[in-house]
Parts: sequence; structure tokens; C-alpha cells
Amino acid sequence: MSGKPLPEGLHRDTLAVRAAVDKTQYGENAEALFLTSSFTQPDSETAARRFAGEEDGYIYSRFSNPTVASMEQRLAALEGMEACVGTASGMGAILLLCMGLLKAGDHVVCSRSVFGSTIKLLGTEFARFGVETSFVSQTDVADWKAAVRPTTKLFFAETPTNPLTDVCDIRALADIAHDAGALLAVDNCFCSPALQQPVKFGADIVIHSGTKYLDGQGRVVAGALCASEALVRKTFIPVMRSAGISLSPFNAWVVLKGMETLGIRMEAQSRRALELAQWLEAHPKVERVYYPGLKSHPQHELAMAQQSGMGGAVLSFDVKSPDAAEGRRRAFHVIDTTQLMSVTANLGDVKTIITHPGTTSHGRLTEDQRQAAGIRQNLVRVAVGLEHLDDLKADLSRGLDTL
Ligand SMILES: *Cc1c(COP(=O)(O)O)cnc(C)c1O
Repeated sequence: MSGKPLPEGLHRDTLAVRAAVDKTQYGENAEALFLTSSFTQPDSETAARRFAGEEDGYIYSRFSNPTVASMEQRLAALEGMEACVGTASGMGAILLLCMGLLKAGDHVVCSRSVFGSTIKLLGTEFARFGVETSFVSQTDVADWKAAVRPTTKLFFAETPTNPLTDVCDIRALADIAHDAGALLAVDNCFCSPALQQPVKFGADIVIHSGTKYLDGQGRVVAGALCASEALVRKTFIPVMRSAGISLSPFNAWVVLKGMETLGIRMEAQSRRALELAQWLEAHPKVERVYYPGLKSHPQHELAMAQQSGMGGAVLSFDVKSPDAAEGRRRAFHVIDTTQLMSVTANLGDVKTIITHPGTTSHGRLTEDQRQAAGIRQNLVRVAVGLEHLDDLKADLSRGLDTL
């Protein structure tokens, strides 16, 4: 395989389209899809060297695959990081992170506002194997520092959070983690590298659900972990080869092509989200809007500094309501009167998605846990897509104006 070598110092938009383009002898312009489970070996000696790790070469798609490798190289280029491992899903990437770095007796410090399955994986599943996790405030840096123990190996953060868009200070967390001899992993799913490159603020590992903005059109489930070359080679690849959480080449190909439009999608979706957030903030039936791009957001300035001046495409709002039961009825009314928006719990699609976090993504929490997380029954989340803004406003007005 070959391709023209890329010049140095290319911009992110260019890398999104041009990084990791290996051509076969046919000179195809779109990336080839290598949908094969195994690779034939030229002879037994070569096979022996490849299996022993003495020579590069593809063996079996659970270990590596050229299409998956292209997706990994392109994502690493966008994140400004040395290396990347594709995984079967975003949660697969977090599983790989924990399996690679942690052993019984180790301790993790994690925001209590991260993705629900991450809380379950760390707080329940890894607890069974003797790994303890302290869940701390998303925004209070002192809380992270106070949680550090001699056995702390990993800090895990996600910013902004789902659904309330709380932002954490990546640089501050990286400094505390490094002082403690721990690594900082950041789940960069909500911003994607188009808006936020956590490595610039000191993060050691970046986690992605490729299912969201990297694919961008809601087609496949995929994930990835980006880190230094040394960490990927020594810590994560060996686990990857045995654990079987490999990314399907087809899904990798969809994500690889999705990344080509990541920059313009994130910009366009963020712009729509900001305008929709401003419009909702001025709406008489709306009590409060959660969106990092708004001046009223508690970490607005930090978010703008970390996220290339953009708020991302996810916003939430509380519908005005006298009590929780009525709040839920009103939130359901707004959701159920939409005619365009998709009612589903996913995000990161060019189709706008509307959801009720209190009974879906956060429905399994107890009412006390939900209260502590600030997720009320009158909360509605919108993951803004690419439809025309006027149509999106009209879609929300149908419900808001008939409350
Ligand atoms: C969706 C999501 C995940 C999990 O990704 P999957 O691809 O569904 O496994 C992890 N973190 C965040 C922030 C997510 O939104």
C-alpha cells in the first residue's frame, strides 16, 4: 500500500480528510474497506516472525486490520496524539483503559457526572475485582485533590457532561493527577477533537465513542482510545489482542469517512445549538437552559477556552412547572408534540434528537440520586443536528406554546 507523504503542519480540517490515506495498487480515491477476518502469510518463516511480533504485518482482524488502522491514525492525527486503538464501542474503550492500567488494590478518581455506563463499569464491575473508585464533583477541583490516595492510578473525566453540560477544568485535573503519579483520561465524546483536544491541556489518554460525532450520522457503534505510542504499544495493544473488544473493519470504515466532515458538522451544529439555546433562554415557558455557549453558563469562559470558542451541539432546558409531576407531564408534552426531532436517547447525529433524561438515560437512578445529579422531571435534552434552525424552533414551539 502507498500514498503520497503528507506535508508537515497540516490543519485539523485537512487531516480529517487526508490523514491515513493508504492506497492499494488500484489507486482508489476513497479509502478501501478490508472486510477480512484473517490475512494470508507469504511463507511460514514470515508468519512465525509476525506472530512473534518481530515483524510488522497483518495476521488476524482481532489484532489489527488496515481499515481499522486508517481510522486509528486519522483520529490520532485529529486529537494531536501519537497513537490510537479502535474498539468495538465507546464502553469498550473505557474497558480497555481500565484493564490496561488497573489491578486489584488500585484506586480511581472519577467525576460523578460521567456517562451512566462508565459509573456502572467502575463503581460496580471493577469494584468486584478490587478496584475502588471515588466519585467526586465535576466542577470542584478541591474534591478531586482530596480524593487522592497513595494507590490512585487514574483520574477519569468527561466534559461537558450529559445532560447538564457541566464543564471541568482539564488542565487543573491533569496537574493534580500528575502530582499524584496518576494518569488523566478524558472522555471527549461530546466535543470531539474538532472542538476540544484534551492532550493540549495535559490529558494523557482520550476516550471516544465513535458512535456519536465521529460517525455523525447514527449508523454504527464504535469506540477508540488515544494515547502515547509507548502506552498504546506496551499497555493497551496486549490487552486488546486478548480481550476481543476489537472494532469491526466495516464500522471503522464508516467512522473513517464520518471524520471527513467532522469539523464542518461540529461548527454548524454548535452554531445552531447556540442560537436555539439563546432562543429557549428568552422563551416564557422555559425556566433555565444548560449550554456552555451561553454567557449564563457557570463555566462559560472555561468552556470557551477549552472548546475552541464553541459550546458543542447538546443543550438541555427545564420547562417551567409548579411541581415534579406536572414538570414531567410538560416535558413529555414538549417531546411528544415534535414532528421532526427523533425521540431516542442517542446523540451526535445530523438528525436532531430530543429526550427526557429523567426517565431514559437517568431513569434507573433513585429519585435522591437524580436530585443530587440535578436532573429534574421537567428537564428536556436536545442534541442539535443539521436541520434549518427555523424548523427546529417551530418543532419546539408546538409543545412550548401549548403548555
Ligand atoms: C455514548 C457514550 C459513551 C459510550 O459509547 P458507546 O459507543 O455507546 O459504547 C461513553 N461516553 C459518552 C460521553 C457517551 O455519550
